[in-house]
Amino acid sequence: MSNMTRIAPTLRRWLAGERIGPLPPPDSAAPAPLLSFEFFPPKTEVLEQQLWACIKRLAPLAPRFVSVTYGAGGSTHERTHATVLRLARETDLVPAAHLTCVGASRDDVNAVAQGYWEAGVRHIVALRGDAPIGTEYAPHPGGYAYASDLVAGLRQIADFEISVAAYPETHPSASSSEADLDNLKRKLDSGATRAITQYFFDTSIYLRFLERCLVAGITAPIVPGIMPVSNYEQAARFSAICGTSVPRWLGHLFEGTENDPEIRRIVAAIVAAEQVRTLQANGIDEFHFYTLNRPELTYAIARILGVRSKNDRRANGKERSNLLM
Ligand SMILES: Cc1cc2nc3c(=O)[nH]c(=O)nc-3n(C[C@H](O)[C@H](O)[C@H](O)COP(=O)(O)OP(=O)(O)OC[C@H]3O[C@@H](n4cnc5c(N)ncnc54)[C@H](O)[C@@H]3O)c2cc1C
Repeated sequence: MSNMTRIAPTLRRWLAGERIGPLPPPDSAAPAPLLSFEFFPPKTEVLEQQLWACIKRLAPLAPRFVSVTYGAGGSTHERTHATVLRLARETDLVPAAHLTCVGASRDDVNAVAQGYWEAGVRHIVALRGDAPIGTEYAPHPGGYAYASDLVAGLRQIADFEISVAAYPETHPSASSSEADLDNLKRKLDSGATRAITQYFFDTSIYLRFLERCLVAGITAPIVPGIMPVSNYEQAARFSAICGTSVPRWLGHLFEGTENDPEIRRIVAAIVAAEQVRTLQANGIDEFHFYTLNRPELTYAIARILGVRSKNDRRANGKERSNLLM
């Protein structure tokens, strides 16, 4: 058999595939995308140090706001509060406090919101929240039942900027995807100005969701929530709870990397980079990152999106002015 006949089938297969060009490079003339970062309040002194190192690392990327979660069942009330207030006091970042309806009366929730306003915190991520693990959500008898009620309540207190949650794959306890979309519209109509999505791995699901939002008359930005995954097993467990589907290809990419954190990180960065670049190529220019209080992946992915830290920009400016001299 000649060499040519042996190679031919492979070459034929390669040539028969659909030709797909590379993702277009980020438009260097377009403004860099807007970013926001989400942190969780630390439980221990060591985690506290880790959080503040993370904030320090990410701050030069000049996020539009940084948000701090409120633990399930309101369990982190004090720590969320302390972290948000410290952000307001000690940094020039714009803090956003997550606030939930779970297990608290309207008066209690209103008092927390009022306290934030008085401390200079102007942005609330308004959520229903989840009941503590193992229990079903039931509204507090004197509380806000749903996030839409909370949004309306916050509007009565002060002129907060309000973000709410959106679910491209439908909230797990929603009666239908249509009812869930109606709920999102209700939250925005009650006074929220932006939705941040639950994280997703299948980018086409998010893009289709945007179309459904538009048809439903939603015009506010539905900012994609990006979760860079470095611990695949943990992400898969959490996804099962929160209703995010995990495509087979994702498991396949991480398979066998359990004891190889460096390779996992590289794979995670590539997966997230591909996701944000695809979103960017589809015109999305706002991103919310679930940082899990670790800066590296978020920082690297922000760079891939074309965001530069203030320090880089300053160094570049200096270089340029040196060149001009
Ligand atoms: C960006 C983001 C940040 C989050 N941050 C936190 C956090 O800090 N702390 C935390 O505990 N959780 C957080 N969560 C999780 C969230 O609290 C849970 O997903 C929760 O189960 C729903 O909250 P929600 O605000 O979306 O609720 P809602 O918008 O109130 O919806 C909850 C469910 O009730 C349904 N529903 C709404 N109104 C009605 C009605 N009138 N009648 C019947 N059904 C109705 C909805 O369709 C949905 O199924 C976050 C989620 C996201 C996406």
